[in-house]
Parts: sequence; C-alpha cells; structure tokens
Amino acid sequence: SETVERHSFGAEVGRLLDLVVHALYSEREIFLRELVANAADAVDRRRFGALTDSALALPADAKVRINPDKAARTLTISDPGIGMAKDELAQNLGTIARSGTRAFSQSLADAKPEERPSLIGQFGVGFYSAFMVADRVEVTSRKAGSDEAWTWASEGQGEYTLAPASRAEPGTDIVLHMKADAEEYLESLRLETIVRKWADHITVPVTLVRDGEEVPGTKGTALWRKPKSEVSEEEYTEFYRQVAHAFDKPWATLHWRAEGQLEFTALLFVPGMKPFLAVEEERESKVRLHVRRMFITDEAGLLPSWLRFVQGVVDTEDLPLNVSREMLQATPVLARIRRAVTGKVLSELKTRSKDADSYATFWQAFGPVLKEGLWEDAEHRQDIANLLRFRSSTVEGWTSLADYVSRMKPNQEAIYILVGDDTEALKRSAQIEGFSARGLEVLLLSDHVDAFWPERLDSFEGKPIRSITQGGDDLSAFEPEVAEADAPADLTDLLTKLKEALKDDVSDVKASQRLVDSAVLLSAPAFGPDLQMQRLLRRAGR
Ligand code: ADP
Ligand code: MG
Repeated sequence: SETVERHSFGAEVGRLLDLVVHALYSEREIFLRELVANAADAVDRRRFGALTDSALALPADAKVRINPDKAARTLTISDPGIGMAKDELAQNLGTIARSGTRAFSQSLADAKPEERPSLIGQFGVGFYSAFMVADRVEVTSRKAGSDEAWTWASEGQGEYTLAPASRAEPGTDIVLHMKADAEEYLESLRLETIVRKWADHITVPVTLVRDGEEVPGTKGTALWRKPKSEVSEEEYTEFYRQVAHAFDKPWATLHWRAEGQLEFTALLFVPGMKPFLAVEEERESKVRLHVRRMFITDEAGLLPSWLRFVQGVVDTEDLPLNVSREMLQATPVLARIRRAVTGKVLSELKTRSKDADSYATFWQAFGPVLKEGLWEDAEHRQDIANLLRFRSSTVEGWTSLADYVSRMKPNQEAIYILVGDDTEALKRSAQIEGFSARGLEVLLLSDHVDAFWPERLDSFEGKPIRSITQGGDDLSAFEPEVAEADAPADLTDLLTKLKEALKDDVSDVKASQRLVDSAVLLSAPAFGPDLQMQRLLRRAGR
C-alpha cells in the first residue's frame, strides 16, 4: 500500500546480517535467547518507567509469550514491554548503534567456533540472530503511553519497510517466518528445552503455547535468592552464561547474603576466559542492581572499573523500589554495598591465588585489568599488590612479589623490574645482563598498564620497586657469578668520542658494570620516566 515506507539498511547492517547468519549457523538456537532477553528487558524497562509515570503501568500478569504456528510456519514472541515508536524501530533495528561490524567481524575471525555465539550478546546485535532461522521478520510494536503502532518488516536483504499497524495493548510482537530448514523451532518440546536452558532465570515469566494451551516455559525464580545449598553447579553455570552472555564456565562463583547494617544478596562470577569484546573497551562494571528482585540498572557501578570483568547480580532491600537515577548517584547505600562487594571479591581472589595453576588462568585473562587498580585505587593498592603475578628473569612460570622478596640477595635493597612490550624480548635484553651475571632476579613486565602503575606502587614490604632502565644501578655490592671478561681497558678516550658524536641525542655516556655480552645499552635518568614510559610518550607523539 501507499503508506508502506521502504528504507535501506546502513551498509554496516547489511554486512553484519550476513556475518551473523553465516558464521553462527551451528548455534542457531540462540536466536530465541536473544529475542526472549530483549522482550524481558522491554518489560523491565516499562516496569521501571511505571514507577514515575503511572500511564506506563504493566498489566498484572505481564509475561513473555512464545507461540509457534506450524500451519503458518511462524513463530511469534510477544511481550507487554515498553515497546518502540516508529523512529525507534528504524533506529534500533535498522542501524548499528554501539559497535561497528568491523570489530565484530574481527572478533568472529579470532574466535573458536564454540565461542562465537557469545559475541552476539557482547556486541548488542542479538536481534539480527532472528535471520538465522527466519527468511522474513515482522516486528509490530506499540510504545507504552501511545496509541500508535507500527510494523517493521524485513527479509534481511538490505532493506526494511515501516507501515502503520494496530495493536490492542502496548508491547511488541516479533513474527518470524521460519526458513524451511528451521522447522524444528516450531516444535513445542524443542522450544521448551531451549527456553529452559537459556531463559530460566529471567525474572519475567515466559510461557509457551502448546496445542493451543499456554504452559509455563520458565520457573521465573530469582536464583540468587535461593540458599546456596539449593543451587546446583549447573544452575549457577546456566545463570552465569545468561548474565554474562558467555559460553564458558565461571572460574569463580561468589554467592552470599549480607545481613545486619546492610542487607543485600549477591551472586557474582569471575569468567573462565576473557570475553572477546576487550574488557579494556568496556570501562564500567555491568553488575546488575536489583531492588527486591526487580531489575533497576546495570549502570550503578557496583564494582570499581578494575573489577569490571566480574559479572552478576546484587539485590538489595535497602533502597526504595522507585529509586531514581539521581538518587542512585547520591545515596550512601550504594557506596557501602560497593565497598562490601569489592572486599569480598578481593578476598576470594586471595583465597583462590593459593592454587597457583588455577590462579594463572585467571591472571592471564584479567591480570592487566586488575593492575589498573594499582594506579586508580589507593585504598586497595596493597591488597592488589599481593595478587600480582609476574614473569621473571630467573624462575619459570608466574611469581608473586612476596616470592620475589623471599629470594632477594641478602644485600639486595630493591625489587628490580624491567618493562617492555614482550617478556621474551625482555629476557634477552642487554638491560638485564649485569643482573643475570650477579644472580639478581628481574621481574619482566609487558602489559600496557605496566608502564604506569609503578609510579603509584613504589614499594612492597618496604622494598622499593625500581625500573632497571632508570639510572645506572650500582651493582658493585654484588659479586659476579660468571667469570668476568678481561679487566676493562681505560675507556676515557672512547667515552669522550662517543659523547661528542652523540651530543644531541643523549645526556651522558658512562662506563657500566651492567654489561656482559653487549657493548652498550640505553639508560634513563634516575628520576622521571623510565625507558618504556619514554617509548610510550614518543609513540603518543609527545
Ligand atoms: P541489545 O539488546 O544488546 O541492545 P539487540 O540487537 O538485541 O541489541 O536489540 C537492539 C535494540 O532493539 C534494543 O536495545 C532495544 O532498544 C530494541 N528492542 C529489541 N527488541 C525489543 C522489544 N521486544 N521491545 C522493545 N525494544 C526492543
Ligand atoms: Mg538484545
């Protein structure tokens, strides 16, 4: 009809659709998780809005409904949520807001096949997974608080249409016209299995239509409210996968209830592996805040950003249900919860660090993020220092600062570190020759943050932490353990000539005891940036 508007997808969306449909084909069932999660989010958003605007009030029996129709070969997912106005349909379903396809396709290329599905959730492109199973998708939506409804429709081939529609109540229907090879998703039993697996802990009830009858699809329990003893490991894992959009097993599960001055329940997870969307990119903690089970926001900053890899839920009694954004920022309750939760996570890490092999897995994935806390968080700096692990010039594997200190030479005063881009290269660096020759251990640091934090954590157990590129450390206190080369000839003439030749490039040229096999090395002044920091500053064009 004349009122149907045609629009092209942005070029980005076109390519993305292609990627999602082809790369994730083996895990097609997750389309249902994504659509049910969107529906539940929409219900949560309407419920939250209704706290301040009664016109948005939800019907008492609000639920997400999944309705397969074999004869018509359609699968419909309906929710009484916040809905989308016309421009929101175009914006949310026709463009990619957050992360571009480039980052997504790069991550897809890097991911193992079994890891790929979790990318959909991480990149916020869940809706498009519908095109894995459907060759046409129609979304009819009426925004809560409005009488207008619109239908967005697309075959996933470069364009979509928008047409006026009608819907008795606010909310959204997503109608999938299933592909011939996706008919299994019209079987009620198959759908039930998928929903149980993926959506059991969504707090909005989900129902399935089976033989014309509506049956419960999920139990709708808030898992974190159950006592620990009643939750199985499988349930924890499934819940973790749901909140974290992950496919692995959690490395740590923390489930506890705080009582007394502060009342809250927390169920938190440390992921088993690094997510693809670099944790470095996401800046803030996404731990979800609930008040008496009801989802409020995932932007409350319940953990400091250097613990942003931790996933999960905190549910409290100590805030009113109608808590507003402004109030969240002002209330001391959140700050106190944050402090308690941070302490708990740190003490769990401390306990788990005693198992060196298992801790290494964690450290490799999240150590660089944790180290940001050394720079940012004076209050927790010492706790974090105890959790650090390093590569070393003398021992294999990972070592802690405490272990390093226990191996220090009797007359050794400082903890020696060398910072660069790559630990293997650092091991061969001329910088450590003199130290190795004297049996002095040097910690080798190669994460990006390593250039920064030593400025703030400048000692451990009273031992200064010193970059060996800074100033010519006096090594005369230590006996070389290897036979020394012939006593050096008089270098005065050579030094004078070198100084002349390099006068615009270096501030001084000195003889050093720090070299064994190499002839020369670069050294930084004792105060000011060390060599790695100078390199970073140069790269940044300063
Ligand atoms: P994400 O959920 O990560 O934002 P999606 O691709 O799954 O990414 O969804 C895109 C957006 O479309 C959502 O953020 C939301 O604004 C909107 N949306 C999707 N489904 C619904 C729905 N059932 N009701 C209301 N809005 C929806
Ligand atoms: Mg989504």
